[in-house]
Amino acid sequence: MSVPFIDLKTPYLALKDSIQTRINKVLESGAYINGPEVTELEKKLADHTGVKHVIACASGTDALLIPLMGLGIGPGDEVITTAFSFIATAETIVLAGAKPVYCDIDPKTFNIDTTKIEKLITKKTKAIMPVSLYGQVADMDEINAIAKKHNLFVIEDLAQSYGAKYKGKKSGALSTAGGTSFYPAKPLGCYGDGGAIFTNDDQLHKAMKEIKEHGSESRYYHTRLGVNGRLDSIQCAILLAKMERYDWEVEQRQKIGNYFSEGLSQIKTPGFSTPFIKSDRDCVWAQYTLMVPDRPLFQKKMQELGVPTVVHYPRIMPDQPWYKEHTPQQGDWTYSRLAAEHVVSLPMYPDMDRATQDKIIDSVIKVMS
Ligand SMILES: *Cc1c(COP(=O)(O)O)cnc(C)c1O
Repeated sequence: MSVPFIDLKTPYLALKDSIQTRINKVLESGAYINGPEVTELEKKLADHTGVKHVIACASGTDALLIPLMGLGIGPGDEVITTAFSFIATAETIVLAGAKPVYCDIDPKTFNIDTTKIEKLITKKTKAIMPVSLYGQVADMDEINAIAKKHNLFVIEDLAQSYGAKYKGKKSGALSTAGGTSFYPAKPLGCYGDGGAIFTNDDQLHKAMKEIKEHGSESRYYHTRLGVNGRLDSIQCAILLAKMERYDWEVEQRQKIGNYFSEGLSQIKTPGFSTPFIKSDRDCVWAQYTLMVPDRPLFQKKMQELGVPTVVHYPRIMPDQPWYKEHTPQQGDWTYSRLAAEHVVSLPMYPDMDRATQDKIIDSVIKVMS
């Protein structure tokens, strides 16, 4: 029996009645865009995160692009971000018209190395965009201190860390603005594309709300350049249902993550490591990601044992072909490149039973010995 890499169906079955009731209500109402579910979801996410304003939007990509636009970041500006992330992080900076400046990562957490940020700041720097990768929040206190000293904005990419805690606060509540994704495979996913933006800033909130609706201050009156960045009512209805057990799902992910780390702690092979979570924060385990010495061999052997693995991500952003050609730059990305060569993620989903968890642990031990 082969293990799935992710199981999206069991959560659906667990919430089926609520999901179908809520979807039917939208279908009967006719309010498919900007229905009451949108504001209901925004309020629920705001309460859950402890942030004043939430804007539901069409994707995680829009959830990063809209804050950049709202802050007036564009041509001539630079935004410092990590070299090691999903491409949407750098993509949104380029789409806004600015230049991504890539910082290396801390090899233990895979998040931006805050000791290397200040060297990258120039007169053009407007913001820092850290990514809370794999579900663990980046070093936000250090990032915010640097931002304050140099008068920069901070935009957290929390596409993988919705619900994660950092020193008693939630991911999304730690920056000028933050953006998350509700892509189905993310910790909190809907059944299509979706995202949300978080901010405590009233003025920025107003700007971003308008940008999301084609830059309109009122109907057919466009005072800004905007996008169609709305999240439709049906996806909001689905997310409202999914919020009913999200805290439980996070707990499950954490139990499974800890169980993996415990089970794999006996492996002492050089070049092998389990995830490192700092003690002042937790992780929502968007991915459970190992470092392995010989990744192609590891993946092949795991597959033979019926355990699929995925690489997040095989190439750092500045080395992606389009970015190499259009935004060429030099930098020391030693640990980012090392990660891109050696990281590999195990199956991780909240409804994984103990037998499957044991099978995954046993397979890794077998492959590594
Ligand atoms: C998924 C993801 C995004 C983009 O989200 P979409 O909803 O797919 O647009 C951005 N950043 C990171 C780190 C992601 O994992």
